[in-house]
Amino acid sequence: MTLPTHAQIVVIGGGIIGCSTAYHLARDHKADVILLEQGSLTSGSTWHAAGLVGQLRSSASITRVLKYSVDLYKGLEAETGLATGWKMTGCLRLATNQDRWTEFKRLATTAGSFGMDMHLVSPEEVKRMWPLMNVDDLVGASWLPTDGQASPSDITQSLARGARMHGAKIVENVRVTGFEMKDGRILKVKTTLGDIACEKVVNCAGQWARQVGDMAGINVPLQPVKHQYIITEKIDGLSTDAPTIRDPDRRTYFKEEVGGLVMGGYEPNPQPWTTGDVPNEWAFRLFDDDFDHFEQHMMQAIERIPALEKAGVKQMINGPESFTPDGNFILGVAPECKNMFVGAGFNAFGIASGGGAGWVLAQWVVDGEAPLDLWVVDIRRFAGMHRDRQWVLDRTLEAYGKHYTIGFPHEEYESGRPRLVSPLYERLKRHGAVFGSKLGWERPNWFAPAGTEAKDVYSMGRQNWFGPVGEEHAHVREAVGVFDQSSFSKYELSGADAIKALDWICANDVSKPVGRLTYTQLLNTRGGIEADLTVARIADDRFYIVTGTGFRTHDFGWIIDHIPAGLDCSFVDITEDWGTLSLMGPKARAVLAAVTTADVSNEAFPFGHVREIAIAGTTVRALRVTYVGELGWELHIPIAALGEVFDALMEAGKPHDIRPIGYRALESLRLEKGYRAWGSDITPNDTPFEAGLGWAVKLRKNTDFLGRRTLETLQGQTLTKRLMGFTVDDPEIVLVGRETILRNGEPVGYLTSGGFGYTLGKNIGFGYVRNPAGVTDDYLKSGTYELVVAAEKTPATLHFGPMFDPAMDKIKA
Ligand SMILES: Cc1cc2nc3c(=O)[nH]c(=O)nc-3n(C[C@H](O)[C@H](O)[C@H](O)COP(=O)(O)OP(=O)(O)OC[C@H]3O[C@@H](n4cnc5c(N)ncnc54)[C@H](O)[C@@H]3O)c2cc1C
Repeated sequence: MTLPTHAQIVVIGGGIIGCSTAYHLARDHKADVILLEQGSLTSGSTWHAAGLVGQLRSSASITRVLKYSVDLYKGLEAETGLATGWKMTGCLRLATNQDRWTEFKRLATTAGSFGMDMHLVSPEEVKRMWPLMNVDDLVGASWLPTDGQASPSDITQSLARGARMHGAKIVENVRVTGFEMKDGRILKVKTTLGDIACEKVVNCAGQWARQVGDMAGINVPLQPVKHQYIITEKIDGLSTDAPTIRDPDRRTYFKEEVGGLVMGGYEPNPQPWTTGDVPNEWAFRLFDDDFDHFEQHMMQAIERIPALEKAGVKQMINGPESFTPDGNFILGVAPECKNMFVGAGFNAFGIASGGGAGWVLAQWVVDGEAPLDLWVVDIRRFAGMHRDRQWVLDRTLEAYGKHYTIGFPHEEYESGRPRLVSPLYERLKRHGAVFGSKLGWERPNWFAPAGTEAKDVYSMGRQNWFGPVGEEHAHVREAVGVFDQSSFSKYELSGADAIKALDWICANDVSKPVGRLTYTQLLNTRGGIEADLTVARIADDRFYIVTGTGFRTHDFGWIIDHIPAGLDCSFVDITEDWGTLSLMGPKARAVLAAVTTADVSNEAFPFGHVREIAIAGTTVRALRVTYVGELGWELHIPIAALGEVFDALMEAGKPHDIRPIGYRALESLRLEKGYRAWGSDITPNDTPFEAGLGWAVKLRKNTDFLGRRTLETLQGQTLTKRLMGFTVDDPEIVLVGRETILRNGEPVGYLTSGGFGYTLGKNIGFGYVRNPAGVTDDYLKSGTYELVVAAEKTPATLHFGPMFDPAMDKIKA
């Protein structure tokens, strides 16, 4: 076999993901694509998958991706002539306790929000649907009739045939051995059969994706873990169209297969495979059966389906699968190499994801831009710390162990912590800080008052921090608080052409005089919001840019990728050089004035400005902004001096009762003010017009910017979705996001954020109201609203603007 010397796109890996990506590249984009597989198609993880296909995830976009898979699998045989084994059996999820039941009620609501019909059914109904099941311990079950099962190898072969039919080349028994690179780009893919020059590479190498990425200098943080299931002999009375079962309280899953059962599970003590390189020679291989380790699932499964006790085990499958530190897969363009894309790390739902993941990945490869909001799976959610194999291993095993545990709101991971701490860590601990972690940083979520244990106690209702966070919230509204936000991501763009670069990248006008701040969105070509950040002009040719902790790699990558070629500017990440203290509250000016000789009056230092001021002998960058809706400053402090400045503020603030405040109060404060959060309220799916941020777009200026063309076509058109605020009076309700919005009894959207506003004394939610015929003010005002919360309706009030202090008087005083 000889390989072509050139291809537009090289896909590495002939598992379900590679085949689906090649299929979509060929079918949808008529791309010149070649897929290279080191063994035979399916010989990695795909051939031994159990084949359950579930669709519902907590992200609307990922649910859409999974729904797409199902639609594709249903119709693929008609196109390719090869069956996929798709059976729409439906899926039952079993609840044996009230917390799980609440989780399912919320899940059913999420399903409704995303346009899927999930029902809650009684134990008696479960028994009718699955007569062999013991339902004695059930509270109930959720029933998603459109879920099902499929044959992993058959789907993959069918996709491969489809890819070939649309012109893709697929070559087996050829291994990619390296890359020829120049200036961070791949020029050629080196293989055991020669080199292929190409424009783009898609790394779909499954558990080998880490080492394939490594050959191009990119990090794919996944960990192979052993995953086992059994296949039994025929079981009398088992219907061939029996629904699949997930029994999370017993950590097991079931699927019918030729009259017997497939049964596997997610144990709390998973067994990782190698942290080194995965051997190349691993085609169609499994690990030895490990009945000792599997026994925990067997015992639970027999209690659920007693017939299993007597059923013979035909085969045990113990195969490796790649898992990731947060349980989500890894998609998108690698931050370290502009023309390598990744589709890997599928956490045992690669069959369910395969069709849809290939569809969006192909589009991403061709456009260079994700076709929808794929943030939760975007490879740019990781950072340098994810190169630490031990950290990735520890966190991945924790995530695997939690696969079937109850998902309490606000739950934090425990492994691999603390990883990055601000210099205030010990000081904040002495104040009772209870930390959470974000991209490795320990951040205070709340402060436990004396007599309260400094620890989260999770529950489905109000959690133990609810009261203390309310006090923190009130303190910021009434006095003054200080937030340690040192984990903010910080960059500097400098050079003669820095302003030209930002003019193009930013939707808002940043070409303001030195000393001014601009809040801006960065848009994609569809006008969708790719980032939301603050730009401070600190010199004619220098800009200080601040964005959220978790967006460090993403926003850096977006900016650097969109600096027009040939401009004279340099862009650096300076996150660790600066600590950040946000001093917020009506007494903030009094505290600041006491620690600096600089004039911090409103006249000398108005809102939206940045000044260098001295505090405790240190020059501090003070940004007059707020995310809480109070008078305040973000103080950016050289990291070594953070402790001294904090101490000075705490001392000077004593007469005003200053105290540290955590991130949960921040969330409640920002909800009341209607400040948007990127990744939930505003995403690449939403334009500034839809998000109510049209005021932050420089359409009146004659400057071209990324996304402008789309916004110009949208300007003046009636919007079909608009981000609106809601309050719910019932104090017993707990909003967590994704609750369905009903207008006159009909679903029109769902919440993107939900929480409690302590000043209002009400639950607050934000979400897009949708109507294909237009969401005008009249349409909005003429409706009566309810929210569906955990499957029950509750009356809600719609709000057009911020619910608290709409006049902004306090902030701009
Ligand atoms: C026991 C078990 C049960 C599972 N059950 C389910 C389930 O019920 N439902 C579900 O949705 N998912 C399930 N999964 C997960 C599913 O199998 C995987 O997510 C999916 O197969 C991953 O597909 P992939 O294409 O990413 O990887 P793979 O199938 O591993 O494909 C990667 C391919 O890349 C090739 N490759 C690697 N390096 C190179 C190189 N250098 N050059 C050329 N080729 C290379 C490999 O040979 C391999 O064929 C299960 C997994 C296991 C282990």
